[in-house]
Amino acid sequence: MSVYLDYNATAPLRTASAQAMKDFMSLVGNASSVHKFGRDIRARIEEARKSLANCLKVNTDQLIFTSGATEANNTILQGFTGPVVVSATEHASVLQPRGDCLICPVDANGVLQLADLDQLLSNCKKPALVSVMLANNETGVIQPITEIAKIIKKHQSKFHCDAVQALGKVKSDNLMQLADVISVSAHKIGGPQGIGAIVFNKSFPLNAMIRGGGQERRWRGGTENTIGAVGFGAAVRDISEDDLAATKDIRDQIEQEILTYCPEAKIIGAAAERTPNTCNIVMPGVKSETQVMNFDIAGIAVSAGAACSSGKVQTSHVLAAMGLSKAEQECSLRVSLGWQTTAKEATTFVDAWQRIYSRCKELDLN
Ligand code: PMP
Repeated sequence: MSVYLDYNATAPLRTASAQAMKDFMSLVGNASSVHKFGRDIRARIEEARKSLANCLKVNTDQLIFTSGATEANNTILQGFTGPVVVSATEHASVLQPRGDCLICPVDANGVLQLADLDQLLSNCKKPALVSVMLANNETGVIQPITEIAKIIKKHQSKFHCDAVQALGKVKSDNLMQLADVISVSAHKIGGPQGIGAIVFNKSFPLNAMIRGGGQERRWRGGTENTIGAVGFGAAVRDISEDDLAATKDIRDQIEQEILTYCPEAKIIGAAAERTPNTCNIVMPGVKSETQVMNFDIAGIAVSAGAACSSGKVQTSHVLAAMGLSKAEQECSLRVSLGWQTTAKEATTFVDAWQRIYSRCKELDLN
């Protein structure tokens, strides 16, 4: 039996999204062509744009498709002229595009230190861009974006919110009233990989990073990933509040059973508000890579605190920023559930966790 508990890495493709893309594959045409074939393709992109715009309560001209959230984040941050403040627990695609970011610390629960943000912005000589994610990919910790937005506004600065791990999991339809610009990605909500979007208020100083061709109203050159947009739109339309209704109970059950079995285990960010699908658990004395390997052998897909693209396990800057000890950082495991996760799968995971822990303890695999 295989159990997939790595939704934060990528979610399973929704049937509606797969079907929409299959249907689309029989069409031909470039959306920039003026003939009927081209116009039909254009209509499909605009239908997808409308679906995402409806979901986020914005107008369709506030939304441009990109190759994913990494490109969206790079475009937003690299294009901004002025100081940039980012939280210490941002995704690498926010931390790395610029070498001059000011880092705002988080507390032991991973929540942004609001007084530090206020101070950092007071020190900036010009209005800044502040980038704080809504939900963290490693811990699920949700940031207090209403308070964050107030501080940013007070300093006449701009607010970028990486909403990749929040869309479909946290109520997001008021997000664009708080943020000036957000980034989202299709494959975290059951759409295809390789497509995302930038959603922005007209007053945000967006600058195109990819030029040529004039697509996406000159904001993002290059022939559109039309099939991706079609799949993204269908996935957005398929999101429902019921998707994760059972997930929080299943996640809580996992955490309680593990803590009962092993009171020395630690749930990271447990005291903070978190997305209902994510838990990050420290298995005392057992390295993340040993855990991931053993779970894989048991047919369970989970992820180390941070898995980089090479597949190697590195210690996590997120957990380091939260002040976890090196031993805790090295022994953490991210478990992320989704709409297909069942209570039976949770039991399979907990049983495996207990087996792996007691076996490693016996062997003293430190
Ligand atoms: N931001 C966050 C919070 C993420 O979790 C991810 C994906 N791991 C990204 C950005 C990048 O998204 P994409 O895979 O679409 O480039």
